[in-house]
Amino acid sequence: MKTKILTKIILPCLILLSIVAAGVHFIAPVVVQKKMMGEFNQELFSVKKGFELHPNLFVADMHADTLLWEREFFSKNDYGHVDLPRMMEGNVALQIFTIVTKAPKSMNIHKTDGESMDRITALSIVQLWPISSWFSLFSRAIHQISKLKNWQSRSKDNMMIIKTKRDLKDFIELRSFRKRMVGAIIGLEGAHAIEGSIKKMEILFNEGLRVMGLTHFFDNKVAGSAHGEDKGGLTDFGKKVVKRANELGIIFDVSHLSEKASFELLELSTRPVINTHTGLRGKCKNDRNLSDELAKAIAAKGGIIGIGFWDIATCGTTTRAIVDTIKYATDLVGVDHIALGSDFDGTIVSPIDISKMETITSELAHAGYSDEDIAKIMGGNVRDFFLKYLP
Ligand SMILES: [Zn+2]
Repeated sequence: MKTKILTKIILPCLILLSIVAAGVHFIAPVVVQKKMMGEFNQELFSVKKGFELHPNLFVADMHADTLLWEREFFSKNDYGHVDLPRMMEGNVALQIFTIVTKAPKSMNIHKTDGESMDRITALSIVQLWPISSWFSLFSRAIHQISKLKNWQSRSKDNMMIIKTKRDLKDFIELRSFRKRMVGAIIGLEGAHAIEGSIKKMEILFNEGLRVMGLTHFFDNKVAGSAHGEDKGGLTDFGKKVVKRANELGIIFDVSHLSEKASFELLELSTRPVINTHTGLRGKCKNDRNLSDELAKAIAAKGGIIGIGFWDIATCGTTTRAIVDTIKYATDLVGVDHIALGSDFDGTIVSPIDISKMETITSELAHAGYSDEDIAKIMGGNVRDFFLKYLP
C-alpha cells in the first residue's frame, strides 16, 4: 500500500515539482534579463574618428548590476548587457560591479515603501543562492563578492579585482600588453547590507568592497533615500558609518541618496564622493536625477559623475541621448568630472550592451569633443580618480 502511494502520488508530484522548479530556476531570470536589451538601431553615421580612437582608450564604466544574475560569464550571451567576451569586445578596462541586496516590490523613483515585498529574496531562492542569503542582506553581499572572486579565478588572468592604488597601477601596466584584460572594482548599492553593524562593513571592506552607496530606493538605518518615504539626512548611525568608511578608504556613491543626506555627506566626508549612475535634472527632470546644485557640489569636492544609459536618466532611448546628457553635464561641471555610469544589467533598457561602447566614443566625436576630452569621459577620469583615492 505504502509503495502504491509512493509510486502513484508522491513520485509524480515530486517529478512535477522538480520540473516546475527547474523551469523557474532556468527560465524566469532569463526572461527578466531579456527585457533589458533595447533595440539597437544606431544609425552608423560617418564619424569614423570615434571608432578609430576607441581601441586605444582606457574605457571605464561606473555601474553594472551583473552580479545579481546567474549568467554564464565566460560565454557571449544574447541577453543582459555584460559578460567577459562582450567586455573584451567593447574594450572595457574597468567596471564597477555593484552589489544589490534588496529591491522592494513598490520600488519607484518618487516614494518607495522599504517594507513592501522584496524581489531579491525571490531572485535568491529561484537562482539557488546559498540558503543563508535567502534571509540575510549581508549574506547576499558576501555571495555576490564570492561570485566575482570565482570569475576572477576562472578568467585565465583576463580579469582582476582591484582593491588598492597599487593593484590599479599593476593592472594598467599588465594591460599594456594584455590588451583586453578587464579590471573590476566592487561597489555596494545601499548600506542596509551591513545590517546596522560597522563590523559587517569592515568585513565587506576586507572582502574587497571599495565603493558604497548609503541607500538604494528606500530609507534605511543609515540615511534617507532620494526615493524614500521621508527623504531625510544621515542618521546618527549613518554618521558613524561615514567616519569609519572614510578611515577604511571606502568611496561614497550618492546615487539614490536624498538631496539632504548628500549635502550632509559632502560636508562630513573627508574624501570626494562620486555618483556612479545618474542623469541631470536640468536636462531630464525627475526624482532619479541629480540637481545642478548637487552635481556642482560633487565636482567642487573633486568627485566624478557617471552618466546613465537608460531612459529615466537621459529622457531618451538612444546613444545620442546619452551623449546629449554628457554634453549638458560637461557644460555644467567641466569635462574632468564626467564619466560613464551605464547601470548595465540593472533591469533597465539600454540602447547598447557593453560590447558596443565604441558607439559612445563615436557619438562623443560626433558631438565635437577633442580626443583628449573623449579619453577622459570614456574612462580616464575614473582611472585617475581611483589611482588617487583607493587605499
Ligand atoms: Zn541604481
